[in-house]
Amino acid sequence: MDIRIGFGFDSHAFEPGVPLRIGGLTLHHPEGLAGHSDGDVLLHAITDALLGAVAAGDIGSFFPPGDPRWKDADSAIFLNLALEELQNAGYRIVNVDTTLILAAPKIGPVAGEMRARVADLLGVDIDQIGIKAKTPEGLNLDHIAQCHAVALVERVPEPDELKSMSAVIENQRQLEDVVEDLLSSVHGVPKKRAIAPVYDTEDIT
Ligand code: MG
Repeated sequence: MDIRIGFGFDSHAFEPGVPLRIGGLTLHHPEGLAGHSDGDVLLHAITDALLGAVAAGDIGSFFPPGDPRWKDADSAIFLNLALEELQNAGYRIVNVDTTLILAAPKIGPVAGEMRARVADLLGVDIDQIGIKAKTPEGLNLDHIAQCHAVALVERVPEPDELKSMSAVIENQRQLEDVVEDLLSSVHGVPKKRAIAPVYDTEDIT
C-alpha cells in the first residue's frame, strides 16, 4: 500500500464584528477570526495537511496573504486547490483528523454538522473526518483559535486492466511478446519469437 501523511497547523486571533467561520460553518459568537480570507482556521489547517501529504507546498505559497483576490475569500477555495493537487499527484484521502484549540464557543454541539460539512467539501464520508476541540488550558491564549490537522492519503489504484497488464510485463522479452501479440491480432503480422537461451546467464558463477 502506498500511503503518505500530511500535517497542518493554523491560528487566527478573535476580532469583534467579524462573522465566526469554522469548518465551513458560520457559528453564533460575538467575535470572529481575523484574517485576510474568512479566517477559517480549521479549513486552513486541513488545506496545509493535504498539501503537505503530497509535498505540494503550503497555503501561503498558493494564496499569498497580500493578494487582494483572496480578501474575505471563502476558505473552501483553498481546500479545493489542495484537493486538485492531491488528485494531480495520484492520491486520495483515507482520513483527516483535527483538533481545534479555542476558549469559546463550544464546538461539541456543532461538531457533527461541521464533520458533515467538511466531508462534503472534501468529497468523502463523514466517518473519514475527525473534529475534536479543547480549551487552551494554561496557555493564556483565550483570544486565539488554533487548529492542528493530519491527513492520511493513499495512491489511487490503477484501472484493473492496466494493473493486470503491468503485472504480466516483468521484463523486456515479455514486453516484446505482448507487442507481437497485439500486432498479430490487429494486423495479422506473424509472430517472430526469439529463441530463448537454454540457460539462465545470471546463474553462471
Ligand atoms: Mg489561516
